[in-house]
Amino acid sequence: MENLRILFIGPAGAGKGTQAAKLAEEFKLEHISTGDLIRNEIKSESALGREVKAIVERGELVSDDIVNEIVKDKLQTTNRFLLDGYPRTLEQAKFLAEVSPLDYIFALNVRKEILVERLSGRRMCSKTQDPNCKGMFHILFTPPKIEGQCDLCGSELYQRKDDNPEIIEKRLNSYETETGLPLTEFYNKYKSGKFIELDAELSPDEVYKNITQSLAQAVV
Ligand SMILES: [Zn+2]
Repeated sequence: MENLRILFIGPAGAGKGTQAAKLAEEFKLEHISTGDLIRNEIKSESALGREVKAIVERGELVSDDIVNEIVKDKLQTTNRFLLDGYPRTLEQAKFLAEVSPLDYIFALNVRKEILVERLSGRRMCSKTQDPNCKGMFHILFTPPKIEGQCDLCGSELYQRKDDNPEIIEKRLNSYETETGLPLTEFYNKYKSGKFIELDAELSPDEVYKNITQSLAQAVV
């Protein structure tokens, strides 16, 4: 099959994961996230995998160099992929540019106040651990039938500590500084692929339509 190498850039709450999963399925792309790659590397019990396992077991973060190495190995096995969550830094973007060209870079843009609204409205079932209820709601978009109560099991809902507006804003600011701005600048000047900025404040269906239209136009 023809090359199709795509990168998604966007902060938490921009809907990146949802769009990526849908696109990967429709276009038969390998959906590559670094978390999965690291888990697979450990499972493979390769020399690198054993090294990574030891790092993770010590509770340390896997270094940029190792993540780069794992991504590089993976990209050598496929010419149809969708990268999601990598690169995270300008250095990783430069490394990636040496390892593999990209055909499309999609940036999912959402204003910060909208992201905070999206992320701070999440409510989880208090029984997510025991007995492992999957209840997850959003006070604006997918509210529970009874306020504060899980539709699936009737238990109380709670807000994760990380979903508090102040913490969310801090997280979004550091994303912008370390990832969002440097990568946008980098890919704006990038020669090999097409850089496309999307309004991700639109509904998920509209965003998806805009993505697939950009792909279709380029094929013609
Ligand atoms: Zn529940």
